[in-house]
Amino acid sequence: MCSDPVLSVRDLRIKIGQLQVVDGLSFDVMPGERVCLLGASGSGKSFTAKAVLGLLPPNARTQGSIRIQGQEAIATPATQRPKNSRVSMVFQDSLSALNPLVSIGSQLREPFLRHHGLSRSAANDATVALLASLDLPDPQRLIKRTPAELSGGQRQRVCIALAMACKTSLMVADEPTTALDVVTQAQVLRALHQHTDSSASALLFITHDLHAAAQLCQRAVIIERGMMIESGELDTLITSPQHPFTQALVAAAH
Ligand code: ADP
Ligand code: MG
Repeated sequence: MCSDPVLSVRDLRIKIGQLQVVDGLSFDVMPGERVCLLGASGSGKSFTAKAVLGLLPPNARTQGSIRIQGQEAIATPATQRPKNSRVSMVFQDSLSALNPLVSIGSQLREPFLRHHGLSRSAANDATVALLASLDLPDPQRLIKRTPAELSGGQRQRVCIALAMACKTSLMVADEPTTALDVVTQAQVLRALHQHTDSSASALLFITHDLHAAAQLCQRAVIIERGMMIESGELDTLITSPQHPFTQALVAAAH
């Protein structure tokens, strides 16, 4: 059976001042699929993520099309998008993604109370269950803490939990493991894996790290200077990379 893509990017071009940061990018993400956008630093990955999320700065000039669940998203700010085309997000910097003054529990209960209409005690139970599902130890105690009282890996998994609680059909994670040590990276990758498996949400995983991509994603879109240079199944890209940049990535990961 053939289904429609949850995300469809066509000939996306983004200009900031005179600088063309994304230059004709096209790719699809199918429902439940984990796709990685892989490229060196400065290749336009974060601008692509921001365009999908509706978070581009006002000085960005954008052309092309971004369809989320079939709805055109360019020029529709995140807050004005219809409910079914909202996208959840996880960023590299988990500390600034969370409110520093509010407990983890109150921040995580919020989407359950606001979007799913749960009672306070049901929202609390859902929060604890969600944290436990991401292998966070002692969630009952964890929810009483503020973000600064958690380790980087715990905090990043809280951010993933927050994105999961929003129950969207697409999650965009921009370098969520880049600032973490390898053990913590593995925990965060597992959490993302688990989330997509249990919710059938699709994931656009943005990274410069081929190793992390290979642990999590089925397919990769490889970009250089805002353009796609190669795409396909990750296994195939790793065993027979065609483009010199992909070949260099594979050689460096060995
Ligand atoms: P990536 O996420 O792949 O590292 P980005 O999407 O952040 O790359 O950036 C793409 C290009 O845009 C880079 O060449 C970068 O130097 C440039 N850039 C980043 N931030 C800004 C900004 N605020 N204004 C203008 N150019 C920027
Ligand atoms: Mg970036």
